[in-house]
Amino acid sequence: MTSPLPQHAPDAGASFTGIKPGTSIAALFHRSPVDPVDLRILLEHALGLSHVQLITRSERLLDEEEAKSVSRLIARRLKGEPVAHLVGVREFYGLPFRVTPDVLIPRPETELLVELAAGYLPAGGKMLDMGTGTGAIAVAVAHERPDVEVMATDISAAALEIAGQNAGRNLGKEGRIRFCQGDWFAALPSPARFDLIVSNPPYIAQTDPHLSQGDLRYEPAHALTDFDDGLSAFRVLAGEAAKWLNPGGRLLVEHGYDQAEAVCRLLLENGFVSVESWNDLAGIRRVSGGIFPGAPPQPAG
Ligand code: GLN
Repeated sequence: MTSPLPQHAPDAGASFTGIKPGTSIAALFHRSPVDPVDLRILLEHALGLSHVQLITRSERLLDEEEAKSVSRLIARRLKGEPVAHLVGVREFYGLPFRVTPDVLIPRPETELLVELAAGYLPAGGKMLDMGTGTGAIAVAVAHERPDVEVMATDISAAALEIAGQNAGRNLGKEGRIRFCQGDWFAALPSPARFDLIVSNPPYIAQTDPHLSQGDLRYEPAHALTDFDDGLSAFRVLAGEAAKWLNPGGRLLVEHGYDQAEAVCRLLLENGFVSVESWNDLAGIRRVSGGIFPGAPPQPAG
């Protein structure tokens, strides 16, 4: 996990009395009651301005309605609600993703998994994204690699509904992704072989105190934790992926900051070769993966 603790204590809202009509955008930033990056996103949303417009029109004054709606958003943020829930969208890999409390909010560190997946997929290859949530990984890879076929699963029907909308919004009307509902590999409708299986599964241990802090309090628990030691999804993925990979195919998973060793061990125990980990931008081993070599050679004679 790299989730920062909340910038503001839960009771930080107590001293916030609202914004007066006639306040300028610049003045708001000058004495921002919330993190300035959060304020920027909330203002863009409430005032319908782009990032550039917010800067070039910084002397613009808020009218009464705007002051009211911005005050409401700031008050909710100060109580701890995630910015992505307040504005209903989060940018990931340069694309907008609709976000609701039914899905995990896409994280910047997950862009590493997209980059690796888009780089490793062979021309015209097939990828499977397990536990897709918002669809962020599947959609970003499909957007980056128009030549590949993408399938994505989730156990939650509500998540698949949102993932479908995100596919339509970012990939055109047809969306190009086949979605299947179910528990890990049980979601797959028929025997199939993929060149790449990726997943950002729930990997936070049930006892991790981060689960009761910051944005995580507002996200679906089943998308964050396995209600166990944090490794159960990796046991399923590493244990069963071979049945669904082409020989030479690859499994790539995102994991917690201290799980690289355990995940690599699981991959090796399950016959994967060329097992390695990759660092995220914070220098944390964040993604691990390996290659499924195919059936072991038959003994001679
Ligand atoms: N990276 C997320 C966090 O630490 C967890 C995401 C996950 O469990 N897949 O907040």
